[in-house]
Amino acid sequence: MQSSSAVPQLVDPFGRAISYVRVSVTDRCDFRCVYCMSEDMSFLPKKDLLTLEELDRLIGAFTTLGTRRVRLTGGEPLVRRNVMSLIASLGERIKADQLDEVTLTTNGSQLARFAEDLYANGVRRINVSVDTLDPDKFKAVTRWGDLGKVLDGIDAALAAGLKVKLNAVALRDVNEHEFNDLIRFAHGRGMDLTLIETMPLGDIDGDRTDQYLPLSTVRQRLSRDWTMDEIDYRTGGPARYVRVAETGGRLGFITPMTHNFCESCNRVRVTCTGTLYMCLGQDDAADLRKALRASEGDAPVIAAIREAISRKPKGHDFIIDRGVTAPAVKRHMSVTGG
Ligand code: SAM
Ligand code: SF4
Repeated sequence: MQSSSAVPQLVDPFGRAISYVRVSVTDRCDFRCVYCMSEDMSFLPKKDLLTLEELDRLIGAFTTLGTRRVRLTGGEPLVRRNVMSLIASLGERIKADQLDEVTLTTNGSQLARFAEDLYANGVRRINVSVDTLDPDKFKAVTRWGDLGKVLDGIDAALAAGLKVKLNAVALRDVNEHEFNDLIRFAHGRGMDLTLIETMPLGDIDGDRTDQYLPLSTVRQRLSRDWTMDEIDYRTGGPARYVRVAETGGRLGFITPMTHNFCESCNRVRVTCTGTLYMCLGQDDAADLRKALRASEGDAPVIAAIREAISRKPKGHDFIIDRGVTAPAVKRHMSVTGG
């Protein structure tokens, strides 16, 4: 069933149709990536979280308003207890044609355990974050991660039939000389690779200016070794893709800093407490948990979503510069979800 034509669909003040929701199912994580979190994080009390049933109901309300794609993220979505029951419910929504797809962004640590269940419950594409293929560097970047486990997880995902895209955050002095290896690794296994610029979200231990590596620089360097042909391929996200002629694989660039892509933004983000952020890079938000719990019917939550979308801002104003010490927004990426 397509979303009911009787219910007007979500269009923001800038004429952008909102059809994509990213849901952070937990702010917790079994890694502490240096660009994402500080080592000593305090997390939300469990009592503040929406239950998995409430998350499913909330996503149902979004589908009534025309949402066709959902990406589960976090924190690490696969560390939320019993998350597969939510994924199974969303799989039923795909079968009922309320959704086109459910995808997942994961650090891969639990994938070996969950890959087959993901496929069985209707997930077909996942993003796995791998910034480096050097085990020591991987440990240094993630603080707590084990590269071997993540690579096993990727193998399990591919064996289960999932389409896997690798995401790597471009980090000065960390992985900046590894992109050729990452391209060979990903494309050699039939996976797309997307490079991402660091965004100034939340306090981390350290200075983001030291980490930040503009992808304009990376692309220039890559062009010495690879033939990159612009292609029209889109996955509904902000990445712009090229085809690497030598490998035949796709390489994406997500450039919130050097090339703002807000004009085509089709998405909003919901946290595990039911807070709706209309923009990753702005503070304005709406409390959907209150609306959800106000009634067994969905009318209040649908009204709250509509009201919030009428406030969706034009875009973010990220700056990473020596003179700017505070992050653009205080919350970490793990709260709003990547
Ligand atoms: N834990 C999962 C993972 O790492 O894939 C999902 C959540 S994580 C917040 C989603 C994505 O955001 C990851 O690819 C991660 O590398 C990226 N990320 C985290 N903090 C970031 C930041 N400050 N700037 C840019 N990307 C960031
Ligand atoms: Fe965890 Fe993902 Fe953030 Fe790394 S990027 S700390 S894996 S939420």
